[in-house]
Amino acid sequence: MAKIVCVLYDDPVSGYPSKYARDDLPQLDGYPDGQSLPTPKAIDFQPGTLLGSVSGELGLRKYLEAQGHQLVVTSSKDGAGSVLERELHDAEIIISQPFWPAYMTAERIAKAPRLKMIVTAGIGSDHTDLQAAMERGVTVAEVTYCNSNSVAEHVVMMTLSLVRNYIESYNWVIKGGWNIADCVARSYDLEGMNVGTVAAGRIGLRVLRLLKPFGVKLHYMDRHRLPESVEKELNVTHHGSLESLTKVCDVVTLNCPLHPETENMINARTLAGFKRGAYLINTARGKLCDRDAIAAALESGQLAGYAGDVWFPQPAPADHPWRKMPHHGMTPHISGTSLSAQARYAAGTREILECYFEGRPIRNEYLIVQDGKLAGVGAHSYSAGNATKGSEEAARFKQ
Ligand code: NAD
Repeated sequence: MAKIVCVLYDDPVSGYPSKYARDDLPQLDGYPDGQSLPTPKAIDFQPGTLLGSVSGELGLRKYLEAQGHQLVVTSSKDGAGSVLERELHDAEIIISQPFWPAYMTAERIAKAPRLKMIVTAGIGSDHTDLQAAMERGVTVAEVTYCNSNSVAEHVVMMTLSLVRNYIESYNWVIKGGWNIADCVARSYDLEGMNVGTVAAGRIGLRVLRLLKPFGVKLHYMDRHRLPESVEKELNVTHHGSLESLTKVCDVVTLNCPLHPETENMINARTLAGFKRGAYLINTARGKLCDRDAIAAALESGQLAGYAGDVWFPQPAPADHPWRKMPHHGMTPHISGTSLSAQARYAAGTREILECYFEGRPIRNEYLIVQDGKLAGVGAHSYSAGNATKGSEEAARFKQ
């Protein structure tokens, strides 16, 4: 019998929903590159319901308990007195989501002598100290592709929101105003702008494809170059460095994982190389950016806007400067946890667990760390090391 600890975000303040805005989800046949959707043997949940919060339990309880395993589900994840800390001593598998991450630092991994696997029910495993996982032989897996397109849609929404000044205009309506000039004094068309993505993996490439019909000029940088046919199809310019891309782009969007190579890549020095008045969209990870340098760039006008849904740590404390800086369009970390995405990451988590318990290989594309080294997507998209430093600050959050 294994103990599985599953850390999920809290239910809605109004209680776990008994009805939903819509009755069904569209049926997808697969992912754009041909990868198949999650393939568990069965699911015990209704797609379209809230699976990512504590009462949703990722739809795992029936399956795990039927096998004789113990499932602990909690939102209490930060600080020495948290349920997560209490349960570590005999946990075999830890599951959490980037939206409400169980920061699996080296200290926590050391407190979990029976730990065999850490699963991200979503994409992005930077909340685990990957170096420590490699050294301990712990497998790290995530549900690659489950919400890549969800995030790309969010990037498009946030790009348009900033460039067209949607949020400030909406706020004039709420305030009872009709202040056309106040609304439009910062409003532009996206058409004709230079838009660049830092990384053109699953999300970055989808962003390029979604934005192309707006008549923008596309740019990207990535440590893996796109096939020539794709570069031609999208008429996208490849850049060999961040500086080369930011020098020409009006909109920059970050779509790479957080790992030691990318941590703090947007800082006071690199921001100085942006076009004045550029917009920066970051739905990848908060720690890709220097927190205070972003706020300063918005104050000075070097950036015209910043939007995204990722912070560091998560949840962000009430005094995090990104809550109050000017011209921002921040949300809590939600882009990858639409009800549509939840159905895919819950099914993918079940698939990973079925493989683990039945002794079958976990799909290569779901692997980040295995057998003491980066594997699968981990080997393609990450670098070895640790990006969890400072995560203990998450314990400062008070609802
Ligand atoms: P992916 O693995 O398909 O793509 C990642 C790309 O980043 C790869 O092409 C890789 O070559 C590139 N890359 C890695 N290091 C780089 C570097 N130093 N410089 C330039 N490029 C680099 O992953 P994806 O599905 O596109 O997701 C990317 C990231 O987005 C995730 O790791 C995660 O951090 C974030 N994400 C956020 C949410 C959300 O809800 N906000 C959801 C999913 C993913």
